[in-house]
Amino acid sequence: MKIKLPEILKNAETVAIAGHVRPDGDCVGSCVGLYLYIKKVFPEIQADVYLEEIPESFCFLKGTDEIRHSCEQDKSYDLFLALDSGDTGRLGEAVKYFDTAKRTVCIDHHISNVGYAGENFIKPDASSTSELIYEILEDDRITEEIAEALYMGIAHDTGVFQYSCTSSRTMQIAGRLMDKGIPFSDILDKTYFEKSYLQHQILGRALLESIRVMDGRCIISGLRKRDISFYGVTPKDMDGISAQLRNTEGVEVAIFLYESDVQEYKVSMRSKSFVDVRKVAQFFGGGGHVRAAGCTMQGSMHDVVNNLTKEIAKQMPEEKA
Ligand code: AMP
Ligand code: MN
Ligand code: MN
Repeated sequence: MKIKLPEILKNAETVAIAGHVRPDGDCVGSCVGLYLYIKKVFPEIQADVYLEEIPESFCFLKGTDEIRHSCEQDKSYDLFLALDSGDTGRLGEAVKYFDTAKRTVCIDHHISNVGYAGENFIKPDASSTSELIYEILEDDRITEEIAEALYMGIAHDTGVFQYSCTSSRTMQIAGRLMDKGIPFSDILDKTYFEKSYLQHQILGRALLESIRVMDGRCIISGLRKRDISFYGVTPKDMDGISAQLRNTEGVEVAIFLYESDVQEYKVSMRSKSFVDVRKVAQFFGGGGHVRAAGCTMQGSMHDVVNNLTKEIAKQMPEEKA
């Protein structure tokens, strides 16, 4: 990115940084990394980070104890920075500060982002928002703590450098961040690979009950409220299930859905090589990336799955006879 942070911050004395609801690794990594950098390099600026509750495993990052989880205070910021959020709905309660800020800037990599802020820096081919944040900073002013946050964000959104969004630039940046002396394998173990017993149980249940349609090219698994409360899991515990389903041999699209409210399902989709799941998610009011997208849909599980598969089938080549 040609734009650098000083230009983005021009004349701002107060800055709000916010990411999306149900914050993931990239969302937390980019927000916290940028926050720590501003605090260190521009100490005269008053910066606040607004995020919903974050997973316990991310709390080792410096600055996470300063994250604001409540938006009750009435404040008007000089600048609002929206990170990793494809639309204003994804900002959750923090949208209030977006609406009242003097200037708004969005830095994001969602292809579904229409450019809702005053200034928009959207790069759909970037691996992660954390990668874009690295690009606007000066490398030699990035400390180990900042590097930990950005590395975590990049690693999470690339499935640890596995997905097709990983570029050689992504690897270069990850290498530069490793050069800061971060405990990278620890970060990956603690924040990405390690799951609680409960998370593994619910993953096992979802895999066990999955079904395949479209000649085995689409795999679907869903959990109802009663299953979720039986295991006592939260939405965060179900992250990664759709990615695991996608790893099934012969599968192009994986759908994981769970009942988030009465007759309401949160849908998470992943694809392997040709189906644009963002297009499907957007059709139902959601968004995301070409290979990872999500939406929230109303109706019975049966109806939701029917509607989804109908849209996905439009992108599938003819089934073999
Ligand atoms: P998930 O399947 O929830 O991990 O989300 C995959 C991708 O789609 C992420 O980049 C999300 O930001 C995006 N996404 C998920 N749900 C929605 C939604 N309801 N609206 C817009 N984007 C979404
Ligand atoms: Mn995200
Ligand atoms: Mn992201």
